[in-house]
Parts: sequence; C-alpha cells; structure tokens
Amino acid sequence: MSYVGPDLEPPRPPRRPLRGPLTVAVAALVPGALAGWLVWQAVGDSGGDGSAAQASPSAPANRSPSSGAPDDAKERPDGASGRAGGQSGGDAGDGGEAGPLKGKVVVVDPGHNPGNFRHPSDINRQVDIGTNRKECDTTGTATNDGYTEAEFTLDVSRRLRTLLEKEGATVKFTQDDDRAFGPCVDERARIGNEAAADAVVSVHADGSAAGNRGFHVILPGSVHSGAADTRPIVAPSRDLGERIAGRFLSVTGSPPSNYIGGGTGLDVREDLGGLNLSTVPKVFIECGNMRDTEDSERLTSGAWRQKAARGISEGIVGFLRG
Ligand code: ZN
Repeated sequence: MSYVGPDLEPPRPPRRPLRGPLTVAVAALVPGALAGWLVWQAVGDSGGDGSAAQASPSAPANRSPSSGAPDDAKERPDGASGRAGGQSGGDAGDGGEAGPLKGKVVVVDPGHNPGNFRHPSDINRQVDIGTNRKECDTTGTATNDGYTEAEFTLDVSRRLRTLLEKEGATVKFTQDDDRAFGPCVDERARIGNEAAADAVVSVHADGSAAGNRGFHVILPGSVHSGAADTRPIVAPSRDLGERIAGRFLSVTGSPPSNYIGGGTGLDVREDLGGLNLSTVPKVFIECGNMRDTEDSERLTSGAWRQKAARGISEGIVGFLRG
C-alpha cells in the first residue's frame, strides 16, 4: 500500500471545548437535522437503524436497486432534467444552464489528488497557511480494500458538479485529475478566492479508527494571522456548513460523526490552510470514515455517492438562495 501510517489526514490538534455561542448555534441545528433524519427514516429509504451496512440479502424491497452495488453503479441520474444520460455536455464555464443559481459561482475542491503518492517531495513541501506552515498536500486515506480517498473525492465532486450545473451554477474545480499532484492547500484556497466564489466545498473522507463512523462538516474558525483572516467568512461559512450537514443527513441517511462534533455533524478548525486562507464562504465535508467497514460500504457505493452529492448540492442551493 502506498498509504503508510495510520492516517494521512493532517494531524489534528486537541479539540477545544465548544464556546457558548457556538454551542447555541450547534444546538439549533440538531432539532432540524434530527427532523430530517426522522423524515428520511419514515420514507423507508433505510435499512433498519439507518446504517447502510445493515443491508443484506433480506434488505427491504423498497431500497434503491443499486444500493450496495459495486463501485460505479449505474444509478439513474438524479432529478428529471433533460440532461439524462450521464454526460454533462462539457464544461459549463460559460455560466451554466438557466436555473436558480444562474450567475452563481461554486468552487468544488476534490480533496487530495490520485497522483499525490507519486510526488512525495512535492506534496511534503511546506507552504504558508497564515497561522503557520504546513505540507502542500497529503495523499489522503483509503478503504482497507484500497479504494482511495482521492478517487472518492473526484467521483463525488463530479456528481456534485452535474447537479449544480443543472441548477444553473458555474462550477469550477481545483483539480480534476488533470495535473500530476496537488494543488497545494494554499493554491486550493486561492482558486476559490480568485473565482470570487459564492461558495466553496472541499470534499473529503476521513481516515479514522474502525468504529468511528458518520460524516462531519468542518467550518473555519476565526483566524487572523499572517495571510489568514477568516473573520469575514466565519458566519456565512457556518450557514453554508449547517445547510450542507442538514441536507446530507437527510438525503444520505448517514449519521453524524460519532467521534467528532458531539453528534452535531459539525466541527470547527483553525489549522486547515484551505479554510484559513479562504476569503469566500468555504467548508470541508468528511463524508464518512474510509477505515470503518460500515462507512466504507457506503463510500464505495456509486448509488450512495450520488446521494452524498445530492445532499451537498441541496445544502449549497439552500445557502445560495437564502
Ligand atoms: Zn482528505
């Protein structure tokens, strides 16, 4: 395996206790998120306790036929747009289709790069993230069967692009497996800034211990140091992140993380260059834990990844429409 070490995600500093206002805001999210969760369960799109890994040959008949299918399941395109057939019709760099997001720019940042592991010296180079210096990029993690985070993030991001373009948005990627490695985290942030993006989402999956499950959305903490000044984006990024978390929970049925965020599906960090250097609303989403067998069943399912993309897309649409 090229994935040496227990977890090649950036090292995590000790969690600081949630502050008062944050706790209130997080508490406000929970009822809505739980309501979405209950609605999701009520429509019967779940196996048992909502854990997709509970699915078995005796799974309920109303599960999507492609649920649990191997990678790249050929699920139907979401929605009823005339753009069925899989091909997005090319890059909508001209402003996308007519739709509620016409004129809006969304930058999607597929975490890592499939080529990173071939360029260790390049991605280990230190870059300035305002608060300190950090590696240019990392290889990302992988499932125990070798499905890499970099493949995952590109797949979800491409599905997300298709959905957002249907809404009329202009979508730009930081990388589309079209470069040897990277970009570095500072460049990833700069791409969103220079695009004057209305929203930026960085797509990831975590590499935590088995038994740690569920998704979480990472919001920028308030940082003002060197080139980093997140103060103007903290509030709108929280709005964006809460909307994504709520819709992700509702659409995928995946639980909020049981190891970060106290069940809220939200985390705040001040150590990520991609957030610290952003001047536009931006969040990360860790869609699940690749090292956990229950989560990895979801993450390796094309049908589930379509749901993940739809949850993220709906959160972005809600944020941009206000
Ligand atoms: Zn990652």
